[in-house]
Amino acid sequence: MGKALIIGCGGVASVAIHKCCQNGAVFEEILIASRTKSKCDALKEKLGGGKTKISTAKLDADNTEEIIALIKAFEPDIVMNLALPYQDLTIMEACLKTKTNYLDTANYESPDAAKFEYKRQWEYGDKFKKAGITAVLGCGFDPGVTGVFSAYAMKHQFDEINYIDILDANAGDHGYPFATNFNPEINIREVAAKGSYWQDGKWIETEPLEIKRVYNFPQIGEKDMYLLHHEELESLAKNIKGIKRIRFFMTFGQSYITHLKCLENVGMTSIKPIIYEGKEIVPLQFLKAVLPDPASLGPRTKGKTNIGCIFRGKKNGKLKDYYIYNVCDHQECYREVGSQAISYTTGVPAMIGAAMVLTGAWNKKGVYNVEEFDPDVFMAELSKWGLPWKEDFSPVLVE
Ligand code: NDP
Repeated sequence: MGKALIIGCGGVASVAIHKCCQNGAVFEEILIASRTKSKCDALKEKLGGGKTKISTAKLDADNTEEIIALIKAFEPDIVMNLALPYQDLTIMEACLKTKTNYLDTANYESPDAAKFEYKRQWEYGDKFKKAGITAVLGCGFDPGVTGVFSAYAMKHQFDEINYIDILDANAGDHGYPFATNFNPEINIREVAAKGSYWQDGKWIETEPLEIKRVYNFPQIGEKDMYLLHHEELESLAKNIKGIKRIRFFMTFGQSYITHLKCLENVGMTSIKPIIYEGKEIVPLQFLKAVLPDPASLGPRTKGKTNIGCIFRGKKNGKLKDYYIYNVCDHQECYREVGSQAISYTTGVPAMIGAAMVLTGAWNKKGVYNVEEFDPDVFMAELSKWGLPWKEDFSPVLVE
């Protein structure tokens, strides 16, 4: 049915590529292009021979002209940006110049300011519309499926949604005292930043990890969770009718918090360059180099993730609560695609989002977040491709 250019070949991309190859009826041909070509070739070697034709290329996705040249040579129907948030704008620009559809899983961040927001990507809205192409922003799990869950709740369960709490629990144990489940640099920037939530039309800022709650997660049990700023808060605040408050909580164990605080206190999480033995280095990038590679956690991680949304709103004039979530088992993911559940829960929705565009199920022209598309087909695909969801109509609410 179509051709996809997949940029990046890390944890998330590897899962998405496995899933594209499982879905050969839609992904007839893929080109895997990343900074380190040997990783693309190794994956091609592992997955080749199926219905999906695979080729590979070396690409510096910070360079728009290089991306344009590759798009012109391969002529994909969609570019899946599974590299890092730093590359969002260069890749979107290349898609615009070549009139090619675009998808990513994380909103733009500049390498030298740990601030992520949709503004600069939303600014492409009119240009993409005029060019007759679609950009799907934030199509992983959170953001991604959390937006699809919100659109689904809005469409089928509520007349008006007033409160959303997004809960992201990871009960996986990899046996290391400290490691991050996805790109350490991006992960630590997110957690070390100030928290915030949306209430009554404005942002309320908190100190990093200032707000803590305990929640008893289905199939996981009781966990400490902390309020973080998270990118889907920004788009859901704009797109969900009647919203009064949205918060995002993520679970962290005590060992993770203690190590993070210590690293922070000694300056290792800083993104300000320093001079070390005559050479400029960024402490956080150095830290990334000494931490375990997230891709290596797969075989060691045991346990489950539970990510979902609790909604409170009104249906037919009555107050209603509704919780929708997915539970994913780290070891089952590893057995299937050789990655742990964090990469799996992000890579599967990225493949499904691209399939939505390739099949025409999602075909609005312009730049959109996932909750702006019809959720029903996507929800059906989630169950089919390994991320089934459960509903609870009387959940315990977060205080
Ligand atoms: P990894 O670090 O494992 O992979 C990133 C990949 O991008 C690597 O292959 C890397 O190449 C490549 N890359 C980096 N810079 C460039 C560049 N300039 N040009 C070409 N390729 C480049 O990250 P993850 O797979 O863990 O994360 C991928 C994305 O998914 C991130 O944006 C992350 O924020 C997002 N994410 C989203 C989630 C969600 O639920 N929405 C959850 C988790 C992650 P090399 O191999 O050379 O390093």
